Amino acid sequence: MQGLVTKSTGSWYQVQDAEGKRFDCRIKGKFRMKGLTTTNPIAVGDRVDFEIEPEQQTGVIHKLHDRKNYIIRKSINLSKQAQIIAANLDLALLVVTLASPRTSLGFIDRFLVTAEAYGIPAGIVFNKLDLFSEEGLEILAEYRAIYENIGYQCYETSAIKKTGIKEVSEVLKDKTTLFSGHSGVGKSTLLNSIFPGMETRTGEISDWSDKGKHTTTFAEMFELPFGGFLIDTPGIRELGVIDIEKQELSHFFPEMRELLNQCRFYNCRHINEPGCAVLAALQEGVIEQSRYESYLSIYHGNDTRA
Ligand code: GDP
Ligand code: ZN
Repeated sequence: MQGLVTKSTGSWYQVQDAEGKRFDCRIKGKFRMKGLTTTNPIAVGDRVDFEIEPEQQTGVIHKLHDRKNYIIRKSINLSKQAQIIAANLDLALLVVTLASPRTSLGFIDRFLVTAEAYGIPAGIVFNKLDLFSEEGLEILAEYRAIYENIGYQCYETSAIKKTGIKEVSEVLKDKTTLFSGHSGVGKSTLLNSIFPGMETRTGEISDWSDKGKHTTTFAEMFELPFGGFLIDTPGIRELGVIDIEKQELSHFFPEMRELLNQCRFYNCRHINEPGCAVLAALQEGVIEQSRYESYLSIYHGNDTRA
């Protein structure tokens, strides 16, 4: 049987079949990944083949299907080991706000670069709209223009006033979405207005995890009542990205990516090279100053995540 992994404790996996029936499964055999040593072989979002053991209610996962993408967390003490948090994501949404705690453009850009490097389409939700001053609304319009011009969808919500919720729900429908954001931006409030009862569901998941006698450090996947799944993570800050080579970085800026073959030098760093198409576009205002600053900041290894 084919199924989708919806919960994991590291020793037990909950697998959902095509009809939505759920089975508790263990894994059998080795599931190694090329080029990456992982502490867990299978994660939520994985597609697997499994068999139900006769006379038992539990199953055995024996095959892992190819992943279209996955996100990892690097282990702090064992730097060579990574934990797979989730696989097969359709969308990564970053919840931000221009009210308090105000999200910086550097943080947004770093999130978008990470999503690009993972191969996951990304979008931005501007929350706490009800608190924006007139000036805040002007800045919002500027920010939206910056990101929409380079292909990132933006949404405006007030989780408290329940505005913009329908639009975000429609985007989530039938997708597996990673929901991220700094603590305090209103992620939980927003999720609860999209999916009332989300909090009680979280409780259920923790109970289930006791089965594995293991604390839940793994990401959890919530099924949306209208179709689709949500993966709630504390923030991309914790997510390691497959190490980005400096040389590759500009590929993860969509507005630079399309210019790269126009630079005079094939190994242009877009910093001070003559005949650089990126610098020319920056001069002409085609590339936003803030985006270019984020590029430099990441290139030089400065942490703009604060
Ligand atoms: P999280 O840490 O991102 O999950 O943030 P919470 O959902 O816990 O929200 C942090 C605080 O912001 C709480 O006091 C919420 O009531 C408040 N909050 C969340 N969304 C909104 C909103 O749209 N408007 C206003 N005014 N407050 C909000
Ligand atoms: Zn260049």
